[in-house]
Amino acid sequence: MTDTKTPEEIESIIESIRPCFQCGICASSCPVFRVAPEINPRHAIDEIVKTGVIEPDGTEWSCAYCLMCEQRCPMGVSLAHLLVAVKNISTEKGNAPEGLPEIIHSILSTGVIAQDSDLDKMREKYDLPPLKRPTAKEVRKVLELTGATDLLELYQSKGVGSD
Ligand code: SF4
Ligand code: SF4
Repeated sequence: MTDTKTPEEIESIIESIRPCFQCGICASSCPVFRVAPEINPRHAIDEIVKTGVIEPDGTEWSCAYCLMCEQRCPMGVSLAHLLVAVKNISTEKGNAPEGLPEIIHSILSTGVIAQDSDLDKMREKYDLPPLKRPTAKEVRKVLELTGATDLLELYQSKGVGSD
């Protein structure tokens, strides 16, 4: 079963962004907005507060979670947190970006997204010891607790991300 948001949780998210007074500092601080104006943090908040619903439109996946917007917001609105909630809702609806099911599969079976990473090569180059990797068992426990394995089942039932 997926961790679908209850109406109370949605209302709580909407309440948390109500202090927004549309100054636009978040948008002018957002590095993604500079190159992809379709992700307009200020506009996203305005829409949700005005309509009272959170309706993912796909632009939420462009957020890099850099936290610049919420560090600069004069009202302490956690826009990055809001966008994570929107991504979760989008995922629960079966609209995660292409490739996510494969990523979950890889993590479940090997404990990591990719076996060979540039980070490993970089560490080797600078004579740094390799990073300790979690075991697949440890990672699976986290994925089960966070509901990611349920999401994988959802995507498998839709015919994507299966073996
Ligand atoms: S910086 Fe804060 S108050 Fe200003 S528009 Fe963005 S979320 Fe609203
Ligand atoms: S956390 Fe997302 S919305 Fe906020 S500034 Fe960074 S990329 Fe933009």
